[in-house]
Amino acid sequence: MNTSQSESLFAQAQHLIPGGVNSPVRAFRSVGGTPRFIERGEGVYAWDADGNRYIDYVLSWGPLVLGHAHPKVVEALQKALPRGTSYGAPTALESQLAELVIATVPSIEMIRFVNSGTEATMSALRLARAYTGREKIVKMAGCYHGHADMLLVQAGSGVATLGLPDSPGVPAATVANTLTAEFNDLDAIRALFDQFSNEIAAVIVEPIAANMGFVLPAAGYLQGLQALCRQHGALFILDEVMTGFRVAPGGAQQVWNLDPDITCLGKVIGGGLPVGAYAGKREIMQMVAPAGSMYQAGTLSGNPLAMTAGLITIQTLLEPGVFEAMADAAFSLIQGIQSAAASSDVPIQAGQAGSMFGFYFLKQAGAAINNYADAKRFADTARYARFFHAMLEAGIYFAPSQFEAGFVSSAHTEAIIRETVARAEEALAQVAAE
Ligand code: PMP
Repeated sequence: MNTSQSESLFAQAQHLIPGGVNSPVRAFRSVGGTPRFIERGEGVYAWDADGNRYIDYVLSWGPLVLGHAHPKVVEALQKALPRGTSYGAPTALESQLAELVIATVPSIEMIRFVNSGTEATMSALRLARAYTGREKIVKMAGCYHGHADMLLVQAGSGVATLGLPDSPGVPAATVANTLTAEFNDLDAIRALFDQFSNEIAAVIVEPIAANMGFVLPAAGYLQGLQALCRQHGALFILDEVMTGFRVAPGGAQQVWNLDPDITCLGKVIGGGLPVGAYAGKREIMQMVAPAGSMYQAGTLSGNPLAMTAGLITIQTLLEPGVFEAMADAAFSLIQGIQSAAASSDVPIQAGQAGSMFGFYFLKQAGAAINNYADAKRFADTARYARFFHAMLEAGIYFAPSQFEAGFVSSAHTEAIIRETVARAEEALAQVAAE
């Protein structure tokens, strides 16, 4: 595969942009090699600057639930564009998207749009602290909630990929009120509530831990977290930035029958343009300025192009059969990869929920990954890197890190999945022999 254009673009970018990228995992540090500079996307495919074509399972890290450049999204944006790109004044579009989200996600009564998942979680925690008058927050090790200072403690995603335990530049005082526990460990949460009962404002969790690889919640874990929060007067914040409009129309809260006080959203609700949101119970959301006293604002928040892309994306996604087809595709993919790994005697742990999936290469057969400590101990990142490159050479683009989830879109047909599985069989046989 010729990658000379990507190589020279990367060399140039590294002089101009730290690490040559605007978000760390894109730099391929954990798998090595040259990141592909993408020029164009259509449906399941992305093309790089050398003209190589890839079946894309990263999909901009989740937002492109309809695939690249879906005709309906392109058409809606083309119609919106001549009307202007931003007004800094309210629009009817914001209420239309708000109404659609509120109608689809059961716990949500009011919503505030922001520009990223980071802003969503950051604002949700400020709101929880304002509402409860408490300062401590609880997050799980290996869960990633964006890069706000207070949340860069035992964070997953790029922090896990780069092996940084924390980040310099985060003042100790800022994280002094951030408590952590392992994912899937309710006893640890009980112990924290015992110790800091009246001080914990909120527990924030990814319902599926998908920034340390892909770890499903143990039976009763999420409901247990919610019950402990209620018992101790803390807010239960579900970070559905990745799972929202992904694992089910109503998100993970629909699948696990949860009623979070605040939900964080991002990715899919912007249809590929920059959007995040925090949302929840009316009584709590009424505290947000200017209705209430908790300040939060944004020059480009509720941007008309972003609202347009989000609206058409969610409307299309909610058409009959779309969710089911995507879940079937992700299921077939994971089944195929699992059986290919088994035939090649390569131990993996794989999982899927709706159109999200993930798989770990294990250092030893029989190991089970249920939290971040397990992931760091048992994930064979070197083997993943070899698999990743074998697949990339074969035109299949998975996440350039073992500690990230994958996605299918409504454009991923069974034929595309079969082709992917066939390439995975070859790649797994190759990594087994190495
Ligand atoms: N929360 C979760 C669960 C995420 O996966 C991410 C990003 N992958 C974020 C928050 C942060 O979102 P953003 O990158 O848009 O700031």
